[in-house]
Amino acid sequence: MAMFNMNDADNYGSSSKGSFFVLKDDGDKARVRFLYNGMEDIMGYAVHRVQVGEKERYVNCLRAYNEPLDKCPFCAAQMKITPRLFLKLYNEDAGETQIWERSKLYYQKLSGYANRYKPLYNEVIEIERHGKKGDKQTDYQFFPIENTPIEIDDEKYDCSDPLGTIILDKTADEMVEYINTGDFPQTSNGGNNNHSNDEPAIVRRTPNNTGRRAF
Ligand SMILES: [Zn+2]
Repeated sequence: MAMFNMNDADNYGSSSKGSFFVLKDDGDKARVRFLYNGMEDIMGYAVHRVQVGEKERYVNCLRAYNEPLDKCPFCAAQMKITPRLFLKLYNEDAGETQIWERSKLYYQKLSGYANRYKPLYNEVIEIERHGKKGDKQTDYQFFPIENTPIEIDDEKYDCSDPLGTIILDKTADEMVEYINTGDFPQTSNGGNNNHSNDEPAIVRRTPNNTGRRAF
């Protein structure tokens, strides 16, 4: 398992809802709620980035940082590990749950808000992009705008887990085949482990992933 900071992580529903949260250009903004009680709920994922057909995809790293390299064939092959956050949020403007992919630096960025606003999901925060499209220095500013309590168990706040959707969940054998052939085997292990290589990079609601959990 390659998740970090997962002490007692509580996730809110496991259905496959959620598209990506994107602010495209300088000055774009949106009002969101981060769907976490506090920092302890936010999980990071250690992933490998690989080319699958035309697309780059994330694949879940199979080992914890303190486990031997050979637990994960991609690590054993000296492929780089990237820690990523896939933040679950509810976009008040779009009226749907979305996932925002960020670097692990966002742990720090979010912690101030999580300490101040408990539970964090009750706070509506406006996010504003500073930086033009493609600008590597792009930053996002957060402006807490109102505190309105919600029922976090409400179905509309269900957000899909990234593992098995955005992050491919491959076995060691499948990784070895990828290393040998440059592609994953077409048939995955287990009858319902059916996320194919043709899956779009942006995952929208896909009923056949219902029920998958990150852990
Ligand atoms: Zn690995």
